[in-house]
Parts: sequence; structure tokens; C-alpha cells
Amino acid sequence: MEDQRNEDRNQPQSSQNSSENRENKSEPVNKSNYKKSYYNRRRRFSGRNVDSSNQAPTRISFKKISIVVPVLNEEDSIFPLINEIRKVLKPMELWYEVILIDDGSTDKSLSLIKDLSRTDKRIKFISFRKNYGKSAALQMGFKEAAGEAVITMDSDLQDDPNEIPNLLKKMEEGYDVVSGWKKIRQDPFIKKISSKFFNFVTRIFSGIKIHDFNCGLKAYRKSVTESLNVHGELHRYMPVLAHWQGYSIAEIPVKHHPRRYGKTKFGISRFFKGFIDLITVVFTTRYIKRPMHLFGFLGALSFLAGLVVNGYLTYLWFDNQPLSNRPMLFLGILLIIVGVQFFSVGLLGELMVHNLKDEKEYIIKDKS
Ligand code: UDP
Ligand code: MG
Repeated sequence: MEDQRNEDRNQPQSSQNSSENRENKSEPVNKSNYKKSYYNRRRRFSGRNVDSSNQAPTRISFKKISIVVPVLNEEDSIFPLINEIRKVLKPMELWYEVILIDDGSTDKSLSLIKDLSRTDKRIKFISFRKNYGKSAALQMGFKEAAGEAVITMDSDLQDDPNEIPNLLKKMEEGYDVVSGWKKIRQDPFIKKISSKFFNFVTRIFSGIKIHDFNCGLKAYRKSVTESLNVHGELHRYMPVLAHWQGYSIAEIPVKHHPRRYGKTKFGISRFFKGFIDLITVVFTTRYIKRPMHLFGFLGALSFLAGLVVNGYLTYLWFDNQPLSNRPMLFLGILLIIVGVQFFSVGLLGELMVHNLKDEKEYIIKDKS
């Protein structure tokens, strides 16, 4: 595990027992149906890990936490997931809310979520009229979240709620974001391989030394979720977006389970979209304030290459060699024109940046 931390990050607050936060109590729904949780059942069979119910409660300094869960057609997973979240958070004695965002489900997910919300005021929900995507769901959840810490997790039982205390403990060390790392990933081979490649490329481009960018299980301080703007399919790049806004990031290995019900919502298109999104992320986070550094550099490179090519041909022409049968001439001309165009785009970009001074772009850490 490798960490990215700021030298002068905020120190964690001291640990405290919050008796006023005991309002958060209620019985698990459908207890009879889910006597043994999915996670614990798997653990018994695999012989790994210990039953969380026997563990001493984890004390953390965060008094209020929000758990944001995007849901798209996960009707079979919702009850077991909520049961497990309750079981994990009950001994921690803190105020919590679970915000379920129904991302345009067409199965029974929404009516199950409504049932849950009716009987337990800690379960909140937002329902989209249509499927807007996981990023939109997370962004909406962030807007609603009232906790000092915000946890995100998938609703398909692949992420393990037993990791929530571990994420929060790590964040208490002073990090702004703690990302899960599906070290032992329970997914089809092709997904594992392509994800390794995707993570490798993102690591190179972003300079962030973590293994797993796209883990659904993550913890954020509220200040981070308030300043993030996730849209399109940028949820894959949350650590990149946060890092380039100056937040510190840590990573911890988390348990990962195979998908038990339903099927994955991201097909093979995820890889193409993923890389196009990487370009968007690199541009909007690194170059948005200085477009000339990107376009000017590319333009100069192309222009110089064109000059070299055509310079060489000019030398041949003086040497009495005809250029009528030299396709390279067109390459040289093309490179020069493209270079000038890149340069012009960069200049226009600079003009726009200088006219649009938006103070919201600067995130203030502290003030007197
Ligand atoms: N999801 C969503 N909207 C979408 C696609 C997915 O809310 O358009 C949710 C989905 O219900 C799940 C999570 O995002 O809780 C991750 O989706 P999935 O398990 O299909 O992704 P994978 O694990 O295959 O990467
Ligand atoms: Mg999944």
C-alpha cells in the first residue's frame, strides 16, 4: 500500500464516545430472511476472517457519517446490504445515514428502498426519473450527505460493509480520501486483466501511486465531496480529481466478493469510455487553467517536425532534386498547419481562462 499525504494536513480530532448519537437504533428488516448475512456466510465457508459481531466496537472520532450507495436494478441485494451495514455500524454508536440513489431502476429496487425508508429514518433515498449513470448518482448523494465523513459503496454486495470502520480509521490518520483496493478481486479474468492495465495507465498519467482507482468502496471527508464535481463516467477517477484539488489520498486493501445477484452494469464499452474520460480528467484538472501548456507544446512539436521535414526537402531542391514526386512534402505542410492550429487553440483557450476568473475554483483549506 502506498500513501499520498500532504505535509500539513489537518490532524484528526480526539476520539470520543457520543451517547447523544444513540438515536440511531432500529431492528434489521426481514430478519428472518437473512439470519446469516451474505458476507458472514461466505466467511464461514472460506475459513477466512472472523465474524464481525464478535469483535470489539471500533471507536472513531467522526461523529456523523453518510453512506452513499448507487442502485441500478439490484433488488436482491438491497435488504442483505442494509442489514449488514446496520450490523457493522450499530456497535460504533454514531449518527449515520444511508443514502440510496435509485438510478432509474426498472425492477423492484425502488419499492424495496421506499419500504426501508418508511421504517427507518436513517435510510434515505433519491430516485432518478431515468438512468443517469453511477457518477450522477454519487454526485447527488454527495449533495445530500450530512456526515463529516462520506462513504461510497456499491449496492451489489461486492463491497463489504465490514471495511467501513477500517476506511474511517485510516482517514483518522489525517487523510482526506481513503480508497479501497480490491487486492483479491472476485471478477471474471478479462475484467481483472483490463482493469490492471487501466490502473497502470491512470497511475502513469496521474502520478498517483495507488493500485485501484475504480473501487466502489471509498471514504471522503465532507470537504472533499463538497468540492468534487463528478459527471459523465468520471467516478472512475475520483482519486485523480481529489488529488489534483490538493487532497491527500491513502489506500487500504479491502475484501471483495463475487457478484451474487443480477449482472454487471458496465459492459466492454467501459474500457473505451474509460480512456476517453482519462483525457478529459487530465485536461480539466491539469491544464484547464493553462491550456497553452498543452496545446502550445503540441503545436510547437508539430510545427518543428514540419519545419525539419520541409527544411530537408528544401535542401534537396537546392541540390537540384525535383520535389514533384516527394509525398513527404505534404507531410511537412500538414505538420506545420496542424502545429499552427494547435497553437491558435491554445491562445484562444488562454484568452477564455483570463476572462473567466472564478474564485470557486480555489479550494480554501483554512482561514483566520
Ligand atoms: N450503478 C448505477 N448506475 C449505473 C450503473 C451502475 O447506479 O448506471 C450502480 C450499480 O447498481 C452498482 C454500482 O453502481 O451498485 C457498480 O455497478 P456494477 O456492479 O455493475 O459495476 P462493476 O462491479 O461490474 O464494475
Ligand atoms: Mg459490481
